[in-house]
Amino acid sequence: MPVTPLYQPELTLLELGAGFYDPVEPASFPSRILRYRNERWAARIGLEGLADPEWTAHFGAFDPLPGTLKSPLALRYHGHQFQSYNPQIGDGRGFLYAQLRDSEDGRLLDLGTKGSGQTPYSRSGDGRLTLKGGVREVLITALLEALGVYTSKSLSLIETGERLYRGDEPSPTRSSVLVRLNHSHIRFGSFQRCAFEKNTGRLSALVKYAAQHYFPAAAALEGEEQVAAFLSLVTKKSAQLAASWMAAGFVHGVLNTDNMNITGESFDYGPYRMLPHFDPDFVAAYFDETGLYAYGRQPQAVMWNLKQLAGALNLICSKDPLVDALRPFGETYEKALGKCVLTRLGLKTDNHDTDIILVSEIFSFLRKSEIGFEQFFFDWYGGDVSAPRAAKSPSAEIYQTPNFNPVKNLLAQRAPLDGNKVGHAYFQQAQPCTLLIDEIEAIWDAVAGQDDWAPFYQKLDQIELMRGALQDQA
Ligand code: AMP
Ligand code: MG
Repeated sequence: MPVTPLYQPELTLLELGAGFYDPVEPASFPSRILRYRNERWAARIGLEGLADPEWTAHFGAFDPLPGTLKSPLALRYHGHQFQSYNPQIGDGRGFLYAQLRDSEDGRLLDLGTKGSGQTPYSRSGDGRLTLKGGVREVLITALLEALGVYTSKSLSLIETGERLYRGDEPSPTRSSVLVRLNHSHIRFGSFQRCAFEKNTGRLSALVKYAAQHYFPAAAALEGEEQVAAFLSLVTKKSAQLAASWMAAGFVHGVLNTDNMNITGESFDYGPYRMLPHFDPDFVAAYFDETGLYAYGRQPQAVMWNLKQLAGALNLICSKDPLVDALRPFGETYEKALGKCVLTRLGLKTDNHDTDIILVSEIFSFLRKSEIGFEQFFFDWYGGDVSAPRAAKSPSAEIYQTPNFNPVKNLLAQRAPLDGNKVGHAYFQQAQPCTLLIDEIEAIWDAVAGQDDWAPFYQKLDQIELMRGALQDQA
């Protein structure tokens, strides 16, 4: 197989032993049509040399990759779904296919699937992913990466030729299988399952494994000290994640404990939405009737989830150190919010207090003015250096109103991270790159109606341009 020296297979999950997973068989699909391969990430893990038929054999039929798992493993977990405990879940339509190293930073990566067939945890589900669901996940992972959110990456999307029935969308609908790259698939719910079973041995083993492979700062510790250090590190990572969602204008939609990765990596994108304009009550999932996971409630939802993790860990650690471990959430969140918002604006941070004042002024302006969330960040990238661009924006008039003065004055006091970046082709466009619900529906309608994939690839090109502008060095 044509892998490059950057391909570094791993098998670490097997260290945990059989109590944490079940070997499963992939579904056999009637056809496999490659719709998306993530070349940049394929190169980073040494797999860019795969010809399309080889790619499809691995990421559509799940022929094992060399040196890693010989057969797929459905991971065991439970979780609180909309705050109700569900002991019947687990990998019901996905599995761990392979593990390997990130060639750039040495992170342990999982190649996990979505839509790869039924498992012992499928309950009444078909184990499948709709093609629309796959398209939506590819788009949002690319966008969030461009916006600087620490997210799973979509590596591959293959259409699988089946007809799926779903109560909440026109059926039959087309099917797909997605492969994603995650820095662990260990969820808060993985610990909850061990606690539910009162299996302290497994719980301790999972903490030890997580510390060793994902939190080296906790690896050398033992017993309660290790458990508390682990929870404190997960707390900080999760607070940073919540802040990055808020700065991105992203609403995950299903912040259940089984969708929370211990590494603070955002993943599992179902009914997500991007904010059209700043609105704390904006809800992504139509079935979230009480707005539990509304945009503005995400930080508290994450904190609630952390408390459930702490509750599970309480079986092997006394209460006080766990309570202490949760304490850094608020401060970490605020600091990260300042940093994320300023980075989105291409501005240097100052100090915690002044950064937070700027963020609150921006959010209050965005709420009052209801201008496009993304438009504001696009118009004012780099601060004052963008004033001539902002003067040509569709929101230019609003920037002339007194409502904008507090933000304008604060922006004027800030230095850009890199003044040359506003010269990037992305910022010469009239509009920012967005991924609002109507745009996603239009992309899907072209696929569903005429099998026209051009709008999908065009959007990915736009996102890549944005990523180049925001993430790459000028
Ligand atoms: P999610 O909402 O995608 O995080 O999934 C929650 C739980 O439902 C997990 O255990 C999934 O594996 C399971 N699940 C979701 N969709 C399906 C499906 N089509 N077939 C089987 N299990 C599913
Ligand atoms: Mg999930």
